[in-house]
Amino acid sequence: MSPEKTPCTQAPLRCTNNTMSIKFAALGLNEALLQSLEENNIVDPSEIQEKIIPMVLQGTKNIVGISQTGTGKTAAFGLPILQQIDPKLQQTQALILVPTRELGQQVAKDLFVFSRYIVRIHTEAVYGGKKIEEQIQKLATPKHILVATPGRLLDLLSRKAVDLSHLKFLVIDEADEMLAMGFQPDIAKIVKACKPGIRKLLFTSTLAPTLQETVTEYLGNGIEEINIQPQEAVNAAIEHYYIAYQYGYKFEFLKAFLLENITARGIIFCRTQAATKLLKQQLAGFPIAVSALYGDLNQFERDKVMKAFKDKRIQVLIATDIAARGIDVAALDFVMHYHLPDNTAQYVNRSGRTARAGKKGRSICMLQQDELYQREDFEEELKIEFEAIPLEITIDKSDATLVDMSINIGIRHDLNIGSVLKFLTFHSGVKETAIVDINLERAHTTFAIENRYKNQLLHNLQNTKHFHQRIVIEECS
Ligand code: AMP
Repeated sequence: MSPEKTPCTQAPLRCTNNTMSIKFAALGLNEALLQSLEENNIVDPSEIQEKIIPMVLQGTKNIVGISQTGTGKTAAFGLPILQQIDPKLQQTQALILVPTRELGQQVAKDLFVFSRYIVRIHTEAVYGGKKIEEQIQKLATPKHILVATPGRLLDLLSRKAVDLSHLKFLVIDEADEMLAMGFQPDIAKIVKACKPGIRKLLFTSTLAPTLQETVTEYLGNGIEEINIQPQEAVNAAIEHYYIAYQYGYKFEFLKAFLLENITARGIIFCRTQAATKLLKQQLAGFPIAVSALYGDLNQFERDKVMKAFKDKRIQVLIATDIAARGIDVAALDFVMHYHLPDNTAQYVNRSGRTARAGKKGRSICMLQQDELYQREDFEEELKIEFEAIPLEITIDKSDATLVDMSINIGIRHDLNIGSVLKFLTFHSGVKETAIVDINLERAHTTFAIENRYKNQLLHNLQNTKHFHQRIVIEECS
């Protein structure tokens, strides 16, 4: 990704020092950076910014920054690095390693915004999932700052598409997450490929003993450690809730919550890709625009979903943990744990998607009515208290009754009972046992479906294509 800058080569500074943030100026940042901060309403430095910016500008030591997601880390390392890039030298002077493509795009975008008034600084984000040939072509002119996922960077290094010999800064962002994702050997190789003596900065939300060893391995001794981890491990601006659902009616309770909060924007976390996809299919036709983000999507599809979410064309995003890492979407009202997180760290990470940049947010767990005790570990370890969200659902007795339907594909489309059933269920998420009495004719097929799944089937399949045939499903009278 390489965002285009405004065409002028010498962007004028619009305002004087008096309107720019005095507090950021006091940290040693130059006017060009202050101008872009002012333009983005970033006025008061966050705690990590107050500490890290002067250290990166003036110090010489390697730095470990321990702070949660959403505390302004990107600006903390991005601003002082931008100030020390020499735009005249067409060399890669800073490398920022990130665990996911989404975070890579986010960091590159932030740097682009911050560098608006510094002329000719080029940042490129490189990550897996995009054609490497295109990236190699873009890197033919070295970029001043490279944001990269470790695997793709190694690939580019082995093809000699990247030259790290002029590097001044190496940033390892979300180090705890990178280790959890198994990137340790890749990062070790990259650190080795960098010449000795460059400034290294590592950021993590926790510094577990296992990570401590790795930090020493990457950064050496004589590290400056900045820990702004608050007393409570989870952002205090987040309120914690649970929805107690009746066994067998979890989805109904979710719908009830969404309908009661019809304008709220949020992320629903599922444990697996399959569950994420299914929930999206189940919510097709629902009055709230939803979409899903999971590992199987290609880069184009992911970008499309993220853009729609950021542009507010999608109100609720359903996502797996990995896919949602690094997502920074302003003003999300809630994070929903449709499946409970595996541990408190995951709870903190998921919840950190809301209550960003000083806003409030809700973190909501779905708990089965007879398993409410499951919240206790989180309460104890994180020193938080959950409050119940009371919800009522109406159970429709006609839900289980069968409705006769017909679909305009049959024997002449080379189908049999098994393949029709697969077509009906795979693309709609309706379970196979909900469809019975399949009867194939030459040009159409009749079947019966449980009433509760009828709309899900229609919303996911109507007007889609089976080879060249436009699908029409109708209720038999
Ligand atoms: P980060 O932790 O870098 O992902 O930043 C989280 C969000 O806070 C981003 O949307 C930033 O643009 C925003 N942000 C960063 N620094 C500040 C600040 N000092 N004041 C207000 N918002 C900020």
